[in-house]
Amino acid sequence: MTDALSNSGSDGFGIEIVPVTQFQQNCAILFDPGTKAAVVVDPGGDVELILAAVERLGVTVEAIWLTHGHIDHAGGAMALKEKLGVEIVGPHEADRPLLENIEKQAQMFGVGGALRNAYPDRFLAEGETLALGDLRFEVLHCPGHSPGHVVFFERSLRFLHAGDVLFAGSIGRTDLWGGDHATLIRSIKEKVLPLGDDVSFICGHGPGSTVGRERLSNPFLR
Ligand SMILES: [Zn+2]
Ligand SMILES: [Zn+2]
Repeated sequence: MTDALSNSGSDGFGIEIVPVTQFQQNCAILFDPGTKAAVVVDPGGDVELILAAVERLGVTVEAIWLTHGHIDHAGGAMALKEKLGVEIVGPHEADRPLLENIEKQAQMFGVGGALRNAYPDRFLAEGETLALGDLRFEVLHCPGHSPGHVVFFERSLRFLHAGDVLFAGSIGRTDLWGGDHATLIRSIKEKVLPLGDDVSFICGHGPGSTVGRERLSNPFLR
């Protein structure tokens, strides 16, 4: 959550963060308060918590969007899809091997059996646009943390969902399958920083920030 973007939303936009799984991943419910149309981004698990938040907000979920294929972001996607009857959209197809090995990741990390392999209805590519009510989210392919990582940018709101690419004061880890530090730095410098210092972002773990704050102070971007 950032200063500029509160739970009640600004400029007709709502964000609800639901921390899920033992990794405390920020599952995000993005919604249009007027039409109550919503998307759930990165339902990593604890699907009952996500469903309770959806009910509390009174929103109608139209789709599940995935930033990337890691277990803590995609492990609850199939269960949520079945509960809500909506499509899973994203990430980029390069993360297919991660998505199809979530159950193996669960064994590796020693986490519960509720997390399942995810099979998106549609993968995403650089330059696509996703609609949510009147909002338009541009898809940017930002590999490095994982090969198929995408981020979602709403240009008019100056809002970015950065997934695990960029955090407040840190960046995504690159020691997991398909990760590459130089590629991640290039994604941040060539795709994220040019969006503008005034862009506020939320991310997969911890608090959000702004692009400008990270450009000036993030130790990984020196
Ligand atoms: Zn990740
Ligand atoms: Zn993560």
